[in-house]
Amino acid sequence: MFSKRMVTGKMIFIYPGSFDPITNGHLDIINRAVKLCDKLIVAVGTNISKKPAFSVEERIELIKASIGENDKIEVTSFSGLLVDFAKKHNSHIIIKGLRAVSDFEYEFQMALLNKNLDSGLETLFMMTSVNYSFLSSSVVKEIAINGGDIEGLVPDRIKDRIMEKLFVRKNV
Ligand code: ADP
Repeated sequence: MFSKRMVTGKMIFIYPGSFDPITNGHLDIINRAVKLCDKLIVAVGTNISKKPAFSVEERIELIKASIGENDKIEVTSFSGLLVDFAKKHNSHIIIKGLRAVSDFEYEFQMALLNKNLDSGLETLFMMTSVNYSFLSSSVVKEIAINGGDIEGLVPDRIKDRIMEKLFVRKNV
């Protein structure tokens, strides 16, 4: 299985998440991971149980706007099992970010589960940059909804769009 996916000769990483919305912590992982592979697929999960603030299309748009032009990065959505998505895209490497010990237990469980479903799939973890260790999409939403300043927490290019959606609309 592993060798079959290496036939393409390309190292393809998949970075999955909800990205509701993308933060500077996510962008930092994207920018660091893309240097280690031939192609990085940022995969926005559509099958999460909690109701997201941004639609899948909006989340994809915000990620694309944050990244700008980069031929090595593809942004798309996925539903169903990550192992199936990885196979479909000839990838055997999942990239995840780790912020704190609190992330570890869940990520450890997911990595083992995916390994169990597909022994050819590896999960690689990248440590957050220290400046972003406190940062999550939930924190950004909480601040934005209440009219706080999200400068430095999300990419500058999408700051206004996030405020517009979460704060302005809530308060009209
Ligand atoms: P969340 O909603 O918790 O912010 P996502 O599901 O969108 O997270 O996260 C996708 C991936 O990005 C996960 O591997 C998560 O650990 C990682 N990630 C999220 N925020 C950060 C951050 N500030 N630094 C490093 N990795 C992060």
